[in-house]
Amino acid sequence: MTSFDLRQAKLRPGEEHREELEVELPAFEFGGQRYLPIPEQVIAELVITRAVTGTVFALAFKVRLHGPCYRCLGDAVLEVPIRAREYQASSPDDEELSTPYLEGNRLEVSDWARDAVVLALPDKILCRPDCAGLCAVCGKNLNEEPHEHDEVPVDSRWGALEALRDEL
Ligand SMILES: [Zn+2]
Ligand SMILES: [Zn+2]
Repeated sequence: MTSFDLRQAKLRPGEEHREELEVELPAFEFGGQRYLPIPEQVIAELVITRAVTGTVFALAFKVRLHGPCYRCLGDAVLEVPIRAREYQASSPDDEELSTPYLEGNRLEVSDWARDAVVLALPDKILCRPDCAGLCAVCGKNLNEEPHEHDEVPVDSRWGALEALRDEL
């Protein structure tokens, strides 16, 4: 896990510190599926700006995730650009003004980066925007074998209901 010790930056009010960090990312669970960052380490730019009233943290990086397509379960690759900001007031009276990623002088960069990726993910991860998905009738991949079925089979649950009604 990647963290950053703020004492390294030795910041005084009005100063800014820039640092390139290698950030380790975990695998992501999304919609019951697993998405792997490749590579697992990304180069992130961390910018810390100190004012009298507080400190602003900005983190920017790009991550590439590999995993199954939501519609067809084929391979999907997703590139997610991340720009995240956190703020820590010098004397935080309420939780709004403090970042959960700061433990004393240590900024938990991996935790922050992971949460930022989760927030940036789209509703559905697809292999391509117009993925046709799997056929609802036969389950074949409609991207590879585009087809239609003439007859729509009766849903078996309705069939069972009909049979029950006949018996009554
Ligand atoms: Zn797909
Ligand atoms: Zn079909």
